[in-house]
Amino acid sequence: MNAKKPSVDFTFDDLTSVIENYSTQYSQDVTSTTYFGFPIEAVLQAEQRLLSLTSKSVAYFSMEYGLAPSIYNTFNLTRPMNVKNQYFTHEVFSNNWMCDYLFKVQIDKMLDIPIYGGGLGVLAGDTIKSAADLGVSFVGIGILWNKGYFKQNFWYKHGQVPEELQWDPASYPGLIPLKNIVTLDTKEGPLALRLWKYYVYSYDKKTSCPLILLDSNLPQNPPHFQKLTDQLYRSDNVWWKIFQRSLLGIGGMKALRSLGYNIDCYHLNEGHAACALLEQYVSLEDKSKMEDFKNKFVFTCHTPVEAGHDRFNVADMAKVLNQEYIEAAEKFGKASADSNQINFTIMALNNCHCANAVAQKHGEVMRYQFPKYADKIDAITNGIHSHTWLSESYAQLFDKYSKVTGDWRREPENLAQVKNLADDDDFRRDIFLAHQANKKNLIETVNHWQLRDDVFTLGWARRIAGYKRPALIFHDIQALINLAHDIGPMQIILAGKAHPNDNIGAAHIDDILDHIDQLNDHKHLIKVLILENYDTFFGKLLTNSVDVWLNNPLPPFEASGTSGMKAIINGVVQMTTLDGWVVEAAKDDIGWIFGYEHSGGNIGTESDLRLDEDSKALVATLKTAMTLYYQTFKSGQLNIKSQWIDKMIHCVQRSAFFNTQRMVKEYRDKMWQLK
Ligand SMILES: *Cc1c(COP(=O)(O)O)cnc(C)c1O
Repeated sequence: MNAKKPSVDFTFDDLTSVIENYSTQYSQDVTSTTYFGFPIEAVLQAEQRLLSLTSKSVAYFSMEYGLAPSIYNTFNLTRPMNVKNQYFTHEVFSNNWMCDYLFKVQIDKMLDIPIYGGGLGVLAGDTIKSAADLGVSFVGIGILWNKGYFKQNFWYKHGQVPEELQWDPASYPGLIPLKNIVTLDTKEGPLALRLWKYYVYSYDKKTSCPLILLDSNLPQNPPHFQKLTDQLYRSDNVWWKIFQRSLLGIGGMKALRSLGYNIDCYHLNEGHAACALLEQYVSLEDKSKMEDFKNKFVFTCHTPVEAGHDRFNVADMAKVLNQEYIEAAEKFGKASADSNQINFTIMALNNCHCANAVAQKHGEVMRYQFPKYADKIDAITNGIHSHTWLSESYAQLFDKYSKVTGDWRREPENLAQVKNLADDDDFRRDIFLAHQANKKNLIETVNHWQLRDDVFTLGWARRIAGYKRPALIFHDIQALINLAHDIGPMQIILAGKAHPNDNIGAAHIDDILDHIDQLNDHKHLIKVLILENYDTFFGKLLTNSVDVWLNNPLPPFEASGTSGMKAIINGVVQMTTLDGWVVEAAKDDIGWIFGYEHSGGNIGTESDLRLDEDSKALVATLKTAMTLYYQTFKSGQLNIKSQWIDKMIHCVQRSAFFNTQRMVKEYRDKMWQLK
């Protein structure tokens, strides 16, 4: 293979010589001292380590990355940004039509790089950030989605109306096109892919990790090839799906080679990336060497939902890939010898030396689903990147009590120490006031809807999928109204996107909009808002500002879930079913657990949603929580001895574990074998 000689000194000139249009477009932003305003030294070091034959490096493949630069580590741009990258306004659908009609939510921020759809991408983004924080030699591989995922509109009586998203990679701060072009040989001829780079910096900006993005939007490609990297998870037919996966896996391996990186571990984040194994095999002259290479591959599986595992007919794959790839796929990816399907999860499980589930409970479920591989399957619980998801007011709180929290920025694990402040009345008041500051921020963002900071406020925001039971809280509207009558008013804020081809998801959204409508006559007691275009910006805003974060998936189908982790680090109390990461925090009194519990063995079906029982359980739990809330905070009076504040403290304490710093350390020590 043509691995470049490891340069002893990777210089600034080495860097700029491969940037496409450097002198006309990027010379102001990438200078001998700065990279879009950040120290260039971190970039040069990262390159040097990836090129070196002696330092151990990881390549991480993921279909999506949620990097959230609008809320964390925002780069500067010296030239004006294309207006397409500046953020637009959001509409709101509420039970106060007058406001919806007259006002929009105006948010002054830049568009986040729109190359993610939801939790999987946010996890990948948080992973690369923590790898940078920990100084791991790490490169991410992904795809430059020229039209993002999609832009969501809610239309009265029409529900979700998806729209193509337009953005401009060429003026996006931090994103640079490289001269490197790699070519995939496909059944339909050569497919050229441009490489782009985006450096993800550590929180202290001393280290960084590059993210390489593949892009088929090139004039030398035929028009239908140019569109391949338009839309994330475009799924009109299998042709698109197979091409997109080939692009990531095969294109990604070729990209690493083209860059001359020396990789010791290839991490496949979800089965989407499994074609990397095919490229490894095809590129070997001596095929018997493949056994050695298998030791370099590891795999993370993110779903216990059957439909979540990619499967394609051999005949369909043969329409896209050349014979040598198909032979490899048949060798590696059949669930049984007589199958005519390639299962990407099986392909990854067969050929990676280890695999992980994303929470302990998911580990149990995955071993049950894939008993043949049980020995290979470890469980490494997901996390969130503390620096990205922590609110400013909580950061100030942790600084104020640094005698106890220590250097919590470097060691988010230190937050476990807040248990020592549980009897400190000043801290108890401060943690509540820091929360109130976040709640006021939310209220200001949606100011026309006139929310109040002394009303019990509940949030639910996530991808709209059946097993997540998006409309559970509205299952018994009358019970909700009765609660508000008997105990006190409530405010409910929701957000979430359904995949544009997912008719069931769209029906859930219709259902939610209908219910909001039905509450029109009760808006003095219950205010409900659903925000368009759930994204990382809203994800952060909502998880840190509501009083209670609702999480009601049907167990055991939520592999991990991460939005609740963003909430707990900000002292936001959980109301949740017992699933995913929550199982590991269930004993810690971080809020309330309700509803159906799954134990061992058969996992059941995700269509049996148990709405009647679990809605009853939710209403009963709401009653308890609202009662305690109004005993804690009413008419501006705060009862600092309240158990509510104990729960907030337990949340922060527990967040010491549920972060990607801890998770990446586990990957490093158990999976990557970097020593
Ligand atoms: C955190 C986040 C998610 C994942 O949340 P889950 O709890 O895992 O469903 C999805 N989308 C966005 C925009 C997020 O910020």
